[in-house]
This record gives sequence, structure tokens and C-alpha cells, in this order.
Amino acid sequence: MNNPMNTAAHPERTREEWQHLDRQHHLHPFTDFKELAGKGSRIISRAEGAYVWDVDGHQILDGMAGLWCVNVGYGRKEIADAVYTQMQQLPYYNNFFQTAHPPAIELARQLTELAPRFKQVFFTGSGSEANDTVLRMIWRYWQLQDQPQRRVVISRKNAYHGSTLGGASLGGFGVVHEQMGTLIPDIVHINQPYWYGEGQDMSPEEFGLLRARELRDTIEEIGADKVAAFIGEPIQGAGGVIIPPATYWPEIQKICDEYGILLVTDEVICGFGRTGEWFGADYFGVKPDLMPVAKGITSGYIPLGGVMVSERVSDVLMGDAGEFYHGFTYSGHPVACAAALANLAILRQEHLVTRIRDDIGPYLQQQLRTLQAHPLVGEVRGLGLFGAIELVADKASHRRFDSKQGVGMRCREHCFQNGLIMRAVSDTMIIAPPFILSHAQVDELVSKAWKCLDLTARSIA
Ligand code: PLP
Repeated sequence: MNNPMNTAAHPERTREEWQHLDRQHHLHPFTDFKELAGKGSRIISRAEGAYVWDVDGHQILDGMAGLWCVNVGYGRKEIADAVYTQMQQLPYYNNFFQTAHPPAIELARQLTELAPRFKQVFFTGSGSEANDTVLRMIWRYWQLQDQPQRRVVISRKNAYHGSTLGGASLGGFGVVHEQMGTLIPDIVHINQPYWYGEGQDMSPEEFGLLRARELRDTIEEIGADKVAAFIGEPIQGAGGVIIPPATYWPEIQKICDEYGILLVTDEVICGFGRTGEWFGADYFGVKPDLMPVAKGITSGYIPLGGVMVSERVSDVLMGDAGEFYHGFTYSGHPVACAAALANLAILRQEHLVTRIRDDIGPYLQQQLRTLQAHPLVGEVRGLGLFGAIELVADKASHRRFDSKQGVGMRCREHCFQNGLIMRAVSDTMIIAPPFILSHAQVDELVSKAWKCLDLTARSIA
């Protein structure tokens, strides 16, 4: 760098130049390269509050908070300042080999204060690493309990638990498993509690029980002495914002208790307030033994994840078991922990979680439901700051579109072009906006969504 004052992370370039370089050198996660080749990436260069801007200066309302993570909104100086200060004081040190540093210790303390049934926190760099850690902990726990044959972890179809080998094997996406070929053994998937998609011939309550009781049937089939744990997202996010019927989680808890198997709620999306409670487990009234977290822990400003460990597991792992041979270079990275501490302070000071429960959550849900009247919409569902809009070919029979029509993708494209980010999971449109969304921004989101549904309907007519 010739100019020592030039600290910009990247040079100025036009959109076309960025797109060209992107195509040549950048291998994107979860991207259809054939589709991308034709049109080039959208280049996002700036963000503030609930909006992002592309390099051409178009302002876009971020209905997805990045990837379900920028919960306190963009441009929070408090987090930037905390990161800057920490970088100057201690930019890195590890927590291996009986060392630690104040940011990791303080963050662990505050997290266990937020979720008092957890005694300790093991830090990771991401949600996927957190779920790999969960697997390692589950298997170590049962070894130490003299039941090493307890290996099987029961997960669910259409679950998302990350992209590492452990995370992707725990996840329940057939297309992912096909590309992997070989999965980590001892993971079994049962059906999901997706009432709109799979259960409409009975009441949601009956369906919730039916799907939860598959856990019992599966345990019996495998042999209770071989089952180690059950894992589930309180609300399946990437699977399409699947909100389980009220009967589901209490029944899952009952079955886990009955068979003594560990219960894991993957809080990577639900954690830190999106349901209007601090954790999804609080919302559904369950008592997990392990809780992987990430995303909202720093509002995505710096990568960080972790596993919250209950007394039941921690007492065994921390007993006279010796060393747990597991850890990441960046487990409890001090800068990430400083970002998390600043993020938690914002959530607390601005009462953002209770605001979701009492104010902006109910308002969003009420306004979102107006989309139910649109001819393309089969169901609108949501909770807290989660929302899903199911697009159907026939409203009365709930008949779906032929997947080749790519209706969800068309809608996602119309949204982008009209200043709104919604995500498409097949033909289900998803939102998970930042917690700082104003009432006026809810109105903006819903009116843009209506317009884009119109444009989508016209494009397939
Ligand atoms: N678990 C859940 C529920 C998620 O939604 C995700 C990511 O979307 C992950 C785990 C993986 O987290 P990461 O992408 O940080 O590895």
C-alpha cells in the first residue's frame, strides 16, 4: 500500500468490475453457479439500521437481518468501539491449556446469567462448530457414564444444523446428504412437525403429538440403551420457519425424560430473542441439556458460537474425567467476545427482547397476516420476529406449484428489485428482520411484499 493513510479494506470499483472479479475468483456458499453466471452477484456495500445498500446505491429493507443474525441492526457504534478497544488491548489469545482471558470469562458468566439452567459455556467460531461440539460432548458424556453404547442422536428431516460434516449429517436436507455421500454414522432422522405441509388432515394439536411420538417409536425401534440424544431447532429456520404445534415440545421433553436421553435445542437462530423470549427453549417451556448458540450472540458483527452446557452434562465432563480433547483456535476469541458483550448490552438496554414480545412482534404478526388475502398465499404464519408466507397454485386446495416454475425464486428476485430482502425456501417466503424494525418499517415490508406477490403472480400467469 503506497499511501499509509489509506486504510480502506478494498479499492473503489464499479458494480460491473466487482461482478467480473467475483465470477472469476469467489466461490460462494449455497449458490447456484449456473444461475449466477448469467446475471452476476448483487454487490452489497453498505448498511445502516434495517437497510442495506448495493454498490449502485439502491436501498433495500433487510427482511432477513443478514442471515438471521443482525438482530440489533447495522451500524451499531457501540459494537465497533468495543471491538476496536479489545483489538488494541488483546487482539488474540487462546483458552487452551489452562489459560483464559477476561472477555471470554465475562461473556460465559453473562450467558449463564441469561439462561440460569446452564452452568458453563464452551465457545466455538460458528453454529456449525457448535453442533460438532454438541456431538463430541454427547458421546463423551455417555462414555463417562459407562454407557458408551449410547451413540445414536435423533434429529429431524428438514432440520438445519450447519455445514461441517457433523452439522450437515445432523441436518435433515436430502439434497445435502446426496452430495455428501457418506454421513457421520449414528444419526437418525424422524419427521418434522410441519402441520401446513404434512398434517392438514388433523388438528395441529393432534399432529404435534403424532410427530413427537415418532421419537418414542424410534427410540423403541433402535433400543433405548443405544440412544444418546435428541436435537431440534425450537423453530426450524432454514427448513421454512416451521413452527411446531403447541403440543409438540412438551411431548418431546416428556419422552426425553422418560428414556433419560439428552435434549438439545439448537438455538442458533432462536437464541437471543427472536421469539420474544431469550431462548426458544424458554418460549416452548423445555429444559435442554445442551444449547448450541451463534448468530445473534454478536448480531453477526464478528463470528462466534458456543454450546451452553447444563449442570447434568458439565458435572460429568468437568468431574475427574481428565482432558476433553476438543477445541478451536478461535474458541472464545477475545474480540468476538467483546462484540458479544456489547451486543448483549444493547439488547438489555433497549429492551429489544421484551419489545418483540409486547410490541413489534405482535404488530409484525398482525400486519403480515393481511397478506393471507393475496391470491398466491396459502398460509401466513409467524411468531415473534419470524414470518413465513407459503405460495400456492390453488388457495382452496393448497395445491403447490410445479417446482420447475421456481415461483419462490421469482418472488425473491422481485423483492430484491423492489427494495426488500425475503428468502425463498422452495415456495415458502421467509422473513426474520432485525429487532430494531420500526412500525413504519413493518408497514413498508408488508406493502413491498404485497407488491412483489402481485409481480410474481403476473410473471407466472
Ligand atoms: N444451526 C442452525 C439452526 C442454523 O440456522 C445455522 C445456520 O443457519 C447453523 C446451525 C449453522 O451456523 P453457522 O452457519 O454459523 O455455522
